[in-house]
Amino acid sequence: MDARGQTPLHTEVSAVTQALLAWYRTHARVLPWRAPPGAARMAAYRVWLSEVMLQQTTVAAVIPYFETFTRRWSSVEALAAAPEEDVMAAWAGLGYYSRARRLVECARVVADMGAFPQDEAGLRALPGLGAYTAAAVASIAFGQRAVVVDGNVERVVSRLFAIDTPLPAAKGLIREGADRLTPDDHPGDFAQAMMDLGATICTPRSPKCLICPVANWCEARAEGKADAYPVKPAKVAKPARTGTAFWITRQGAEGPEVWLVRREGKGLLGGMRALPEDGWTARLDGSRQPPFAAAWRDLGAVTHVFTHFSLTMTVQGATVTRPPAGEGEWWPLARLDEAGLPTVFARAAARAMAGFELEIP
Ligand code: SF4
Repeated sequence: MDARGQTPLHTEVSAVTQALLAWYRTHARVLPWRAPPGAARMAAYRVWLSEVMLQQTTVAAVIPYFETFTRRWSSVEALAAAPEEDVMAAWAGLGYYSRARRLVECARVVADMGAFPQDEAGLRALPGLGAYTAAAVASIAFGQRAVVVDGNVERVVSRLFAIDTPLPAAKGLIREGADRLTPDDHPGDFAQAMMDLGATICTPRSPKCLICPVANWCEARAEGKADAYPVKPAKVAKPARTGTAFWITRQGAEGPEVWLVRREGKGLLGGMRALPEDGWTARLDGSRQPPFAAAWRDLGAVTHVFTHFSLTMTVQGATVTRPPAGEGEWWPLARLDEAGLPTVFARAAARAMAGFELEIP
């Protein structure tokens, strides 16, 4: 503490920023959506696409999707022209499917505008761009000063300033801290340096303070309790739901096929191909009857955790000769991995396939 009761961090903010930028120049992670420090900035399309994919998904999981998307749709105009169902199918497995729909919607708006807006406010007005994504694209793709706060940055800032207010109430203080650290020059490098520091050194558990470039100024480290920040709110258990997916098969001309439906546009996993199910998305518990009378077999169960609830889904199977009532399509089992099933249904399908034996009625 200095004579005014402030810690070194409060008096040496620019030294922290410079130390972090110097560290980034030699330690930046090599990622397919990122320009190396000092190189020309990456196209806004790639920055935006990666940031949307990275929301609530790990870097390792995103890389193959990013490469597939940019190979198939190399510009925002190409993505804007793609049929939504193709994009949804390519997105399958990344989760949070409403993001994929907003991605297409945003691409179409940007294509109509002729280019991405270059400032934070203009970006924020696009469909699906929250405060974080708009700030990240403005600073990384366009070199605008913007305060970028993702989960990594939140952790680093709360430790640097030892912010002891629990989340989410601490968000304002964290943003204020990040704002004080963000430089006018190279704000994009700074944002990415903070993300990298959080991902590789200032990790949620056992941060590597001994090799941290900003350790000299870190208040949490000075207190000897880096792990204690950010202060988490008390945990609330997620509600548990149960449901049933129906694995309806037949012998097609070229091999076994399964009946798939297209989920309603606006609801959970809307617009995606899926197995028929018994309406678990609209209720908290209980079970319903299968959609028609048949010799149903129990094929096991899968569990999946959504943002607001966890689901235990039983899989019931039956072999039929006529299509069930309602809209749907017969899909060859040999090409089921091309159907673009969202993760919960891909798991249910894998469960059903493990015990699958087509019964010829
Ligand atoms: Fe994080 Fe430790 Fe560095 Fe502080 S010193 S920023 S707690 S890694």
